[in-house]
Amino acid sequence: MNPTPVIAARRLVKTYGMGDAVVHALAGVDLTVHQGDYVAIMGSSGSGKSTLMNILGCLDVPTTGRYLLDGIDVGGLDERQLSLVRNRKIGFIFQSFNLVPRTSALAQVELPLAYAGVKAAERRRRAMAALTMVGLAERAEHKPNELSGGQQQRVAVARALVTSPAMLLADEPTGNLDSHSTKEVLGIVDRLNASGRTVVLITHEDEVAHHAKRVIRLVDGLIISDVRQAPVEGPPPALAGTLTQGGVR
Ligand code: ADP
Ligand code: MG
Repeated sequence: MNPTPVIAARRLVKTYGMGDAVVHALAGVDLTVHQGDYVAIMGSSGSGKSTLMNILGCLDVPTTGRYLLDGIDVGGLDERQLSLVRNRKIGFIFQSFNLVPRTSALAQVELPLAYAGVKAAERRRRAMAALTMVGLAERAEHKPNELSGGQQQRVAVARALVTSPAMLLADEPTGNLDSHSTKEVLGIVDRLNASGRTVVLITHEDEVAHHAKRVIRLVDGLIISDVRQAPVEGPPPALAGTLTQGGVR
């Protein structure tokens, strides 16, 4: 295992407002996530999940505390450097897919590579490989409005993984999907984790958290429990089930 944690966060505090109106969205969160882990972050509405996610994703900065992403202290970085770190280190998956309208699946998946300065031929090759990985090679030329919700989220997953990021960060990735598409998308995330990718996902559904190797619960901006369901190495429980049943993926 790579000894440098993907996430090393210490005493993260995020406060909004001031005086009587102050809200401690995060009240001192310590979190270490190693390469290959699969972490579900759970908690009721207002518990601080999105705040934590935004900080871990370098979309926001803590009021106080320290965050090292894959060994990089992101506290000292300016906006431009942060966007570079986001592009190189993190693959985002959002509840609402966040695809670009009127743009083919292939072009969507090529986008982060274009930002990273990858040349056209290589871009195309890697984007096609990512689309193949999510089972959408035949839909490469389709636009979002020509794809089902589940297919759109699979395009988003391909876009998230095409840069080989240090971690996949997913905010309620199945929140807008029916149960069939939920299974499909989680199956892909499970496989990505089984091949070594670090996954952090926010969910309020026990069924989704069941796929993770570790479940963290937030209450009022604090981690109140952190339970390991499976070792960092080896398949997550949901996948282990299909393997022991002799299932071939
Ligand atoms: P969750 O995602 O778990 O629902 P959030 O991280 O969105 O929780 O919010 C945590 C707390 O911080 C809540 O009390 C919320 O009202 C507050 N909060 C979040 N963002 C802001 C903001 N921009 N301004 C003021 N309060 C905020
Ligand atoms: Mg939220």
